[in-house]
Amino acid sequence: MSTDNHYLNILFKMKKLNEKYISFFQNMNNVISQTDNEIYEELNRLYSKYHIFEDNHLFLNKKLLANKQACLEYMNNIINSKIIHSCKHEFVEDYIDISPDTSKRIIYCEICGNSLYDCNKNASIK
Ligand SMILES: [Zn+2]
Repeated sequence: MSTDNHYLNILFKMKKLNEKYISFFQNMNNVISQTDNEIYEELNRLYSKYHIFEDNHLFLNKKLLANKQACLEYMNNIINSKIIHSCKHEFVEDYIDISPDTSKRIIYCEICGNSLYDCNKNASIK
């Protein structure tokens, strides 16, 4: 995604960095859940009535991570809204495979990557 609009290029870069951050938190959450499960299994082998903590975590606070991730996703929606309002969209039609026999028609902007549906949905929000 690149254009001669400097402001839009900055938004694209911010979106990309923000998504990188979101993906980091998702991965971290997966590792924590998996590790917690393995630890619980081991503890249950050692103690038959091991008490699981109320907020379901041992070492790291998953709620805190989920909040951080939600903030980043909220920020990403704002960035994307600004992209949709600033882009001089050039829509193209394409087909994506949803199964080996079925494909779905989509219309998206070649510049910002947003679908026509998302662009229309965001048009009324400033
Ligand atoms: Zn666009």
